[in-house]
Amino acid sequence: MRDHRTSSSLAPSRQGMRRISVLLPLPLAATYDYRLPEDMSAGPGSYVRVPLGNRIVTGVVWRNDDENSPVPEKRLKPVAEILPSPPMAEELRRLVDWVAGYTLAPLGTVLRMAMGPEDAFAAETARQGYLAPVEIDSSLALTAARKRVLAALVMEQARSASDLAAMAGCGTGVVRAMAAAGLLREVVLMAHRERPQPDPTRPFPVLSTDQEQAATAISDAIDANRFAPFLLDGVTGSGKTEVYFRAIATALRRGKQVLVLLPEIALGAQWHERFARQFGCRAAAWHSGIRPSERRVLWRDVAQGRARVVVGARSALFLPFRELGLIVVDEEHDNSFKQEEGVIYHARDMAVVRASLNDAPIILASATPSLESLANVERGRYRHLVLPDRHGGALLPTVALIDMRIDKPARGRFMAPRLVAAVDETLSAGEQVMLFLNRRGYAPLTLCRTCGYRLQCPHCTAWLVEHRLQGRLTCHHCGYQQQPPDHCPSCDDTRSFAACGPGVERLAEEVAERFPNARTAIMASDTLDGPTAITELIRAVGAHEVDLLIGTQMMAKGHHFPMLTLVGVVDADLGLNGGDLRAAERTFQMLHQVSGRAGRAERPGIVMVQTYDPEHPVMAALAANDRGRLLGIEAAARRERHLPPFGRLAAVILSSEDSDQNETAAAALARAAPHLRGVDILGPAPAPLAILRGRHRVRFLVKTERQVNIQAVVTQWLSGVKIGSAVRIQVDIDPYSFL
Ligand code: ADP
Ligand code: ZN
Repeated sequence: MRDHRTSSSLAPSRQGMRRISVLLPLPLAATYDYRLPEDMSAGPGSYVRVPLGNRIVTGVVWRNDDENSPVPEKRLKPVAEILPSPPMAEELRRLVDWVAGYTLAPLGTVLRMAMGPEDAFAAETARQGYLAPVEIDSSLALTAARKRVLAALVMEQARSASDLAAMAGCGTGVVRAMAAAGLLREVVLMAHRERPQPDPTRPFPVLSTDQEQAATAISDAIDANRFAPFLLDGVTGSGKTEVYFRAIATALRRGKQVLVLLPEIALGAQWHERFARQFGCRAAAWHSGIRPSERRVLWRDVAQGRARVVVGARSALFLPFRELGLIVVDEEHDNSFKQEEGVIYHARDMAVVRASLNDAPIILASATPSLESLANVERGRYRHLVLPDRHGGALLPTVALIDMRIDKPARGRFMAPRLVAAVDETLSAGEQVMLFLNRRGYAPLTLCRTCGYRLQCPHCTAWLVEHRLQGRLTCHHCGYQQQPPDHCPSCDDTRSFAACGPGVERLAEEVAERFPNARTAIMASDTLDGPTAITELIRAVGAHEVDLLIGTQMMAKGHHFPMLTLVGVVDADLGLNGGDLRAAERTFQMLHQVSGRAGRAERPGIVMVQTYDPEHPVMAALAANDRGRLLGIEAAARRERHLPPFGRLAAVILSSEDSDQNETAAAALARAAPHLRGVDILGPAPAPLAILRGRHRVRFLVKTERQVNIQAVVTQWLSGVKIGSAVRIQVDIDPYSFL
C-alpha cells in the first residue's frame, strides 16, 4: 500500500524561505500562500493555523512551494501554528479537488465538508469531566439551566463541559460556574474512549449459490486492494445485506476500515440491530444528530483507525479514513443521496470516486437500481451481481391495480371499496396493514368555497398544507407556518374553507371511521419527534402493537415486519406529474420498495395500487413485476433525447429578491449562451417554484452529449457575463430536482 500519511518536511526554497499553499475552509476557489517559519515543518495535508485578515483560521496545506504564485515571498504572512493532528491523506485531498472540479463548488467550500470539527485537531490530552455531586443541598435555589445540567448527569457517567452544555441546552459557562460553586465534581476524562470492535469471525449463515458467488467476487476485490465497483442487484429479501455483511467481515479481517452509506440515517435502527447481532457490537454512526463531543471523538477515531465500520448519511463520505478498504452504498437509487444545498453533489457518485482514489471496492446495493448504475453495467464499468430470488423461497407479493375511474371511493373519501374490503379481511385475519400516501399533513390545499381563494405561502409559489394535528398551515418548501385563518382573506366569508385532497392525517381520519377497532399509527417526519420516536414506532409495529400503519415514503425503506401482509398504495400517480426527468423511474422505485414491505416471512403479501392511469408503463411494470420492460422504455426515451445517463445535464438557477435584476441577469446570460456542437442551452424559464423564500427564481438547463465536458461549458459561459451582486447563481450538475 502507498502511504501518504507521513509528513515530509519541506526543503527550503530559493532564498531560504519556504512558501506553502494553504486551502482554507471558506468559499474560496484557490489556495493562499504563506511562509513557513524555519522552526516549523509541515507537508501536504498538514493542518495549520494561519492569519487571514485579523483572524486566525485553520486550513490544510494543499501544495508546497508554489513557484508560480504572484505574491512576492517577502510579503507572505507566516504560518501561526502546525496542528498535531495526522495530516489529511492524499486520497481525501484528491477527493476534495475532484468534487470541487465536478460540482463547480469553490474548493474551500468542499474542504469545509472534509474538515473535522474545529476542536478535533488539538493534541489528544486528558480532558476535564464532570459528575453530579454526591449530595445536593436541597435548600439551594437553582436556575433552570443548572437543573438541566444536573438532570443530564443522572447516570454515573462523567461528561465534558461541552457535552453537558449540549445536553442541557446551555452554555459551557454554566457548567464551569457550577463546578466552581461546588455543584459538580471534577474528574479527569480519558483522552479517548475505548471503542468496542466489530468481530468479523462470528459465524455467518450459509449462503445460497448466488449469494456465495456475489460475496466471493467482492472478497477477491478486497484482497486485491483494487478499485472495483459492484452493482448488487436483488429483490427485497434476497440477501443483499447478508452478502455485504460478508464483505464487511472480509475487509475487517484484512485490517481495513469500512464505510456504509445509508439513505435516511434516522431510520437505521433495524440496520444497527442487525449489524450488532452479526458483529457483536454496533457500528459507529455519523450523522447530523450526533453531539459535538461525539462528533469530535468519532472524527478522531476514524482518522486514527480506531473506528472500523462507520455508517452514515452523505457527509460520512468525507471522513478522514486511514485505511479505507470497502464502501457500501445501500439503496443506491435513493434520491436522498443527492445533496441539494451548499455543495450540490451526489454522494453515491462521489463514493465511487472515493473508492477509486482509495483503490477499494465499492458495493452499490438496490432492489431497483438507478438507470445510471445499470448504464454503467452495460458500459462494462460496474460488475453486475444479481440475486434473483427471495431468501428461503419467500414469495414476492402479488400486485393488483385498482382502477380508480371504475372502483371509485365515496365523495371526500380516498379508499376504493376493494381496498376497504381487503383491509377488513386482513385485519380480521389478525394480520397487519400498511397504507402508503406520500403526503404529509391533512390536505395539500385549502380553498374558500365562496370565492375560490387558495391559501398560499407568502414567500413561495406554493400552497399551504394543513397540518390539523398541529393546528397549523405550513409551507413544505420554506417552513413558513400560520394559524388557519377564521375568515377568507379575499372575500371575508367565515367558515368557508374546504380541504382539498388527502394527506396522511386525513387518511387516518377515514381509517378511524372505517376501522374503529384497529390500532393505528402514522409514520411521517412531522408526526414523529426525532429518531427515538421512529425507533419506538418501528419496534411497536414489529411487536404487532399496531394493526394499521399509515405512512409516507419514510416507511418505504428496509423495515421488516413479519405480520404485514397487505400494502395499500393510496395515490400511486402522485409522483408522476411535473417536469422531472426521473418521475417514472422514481415512482417505480418507490412503489416497488413499498411493495417489498408486504409478506416477507411465511405469509404471502398483497399490494393494492390505486391509480387513475393503470395503463401507464410504471403501473403495468409493477403489476407484472417487470422492471426490465419499464427500464427498457425509459432508457430508450432518454437515449433518444440525450438525457442522463446517455447525455449530460446541468441546471443553472438564478435567484434574487429583486425580480427585475434577476430578469436582467437572465437576459444577459441568454445572450452570452455559447453555440457549440452537442450543447443545448434551454431557458431562461421561470422555475416551477418561481418564488422560494422570497427569492425570484429563473432556470436554465444545459444539455450536452455525453463526451462533452459540461463543467467547462458552464464555467466558460458564466465567466463571460457580469452579474449584479443581488443575483445569486447556483449550478447543479446532474440535477435531480427540477423545482
Ligand atoms: P435484502 O437486503 O436483499 O433485502 P436481507 O439480507 O435483508 O435481504 O435478507 C432477507 C432475510 O433473509 C433476512 O432476514 C436475512 O437474514 C435472511 N437471509 C438472507 N440470506 C440468508 C441466508 N443465506 N441464510 C439465512 N438467512 C438469510
Ligand atoms: Zn414558503
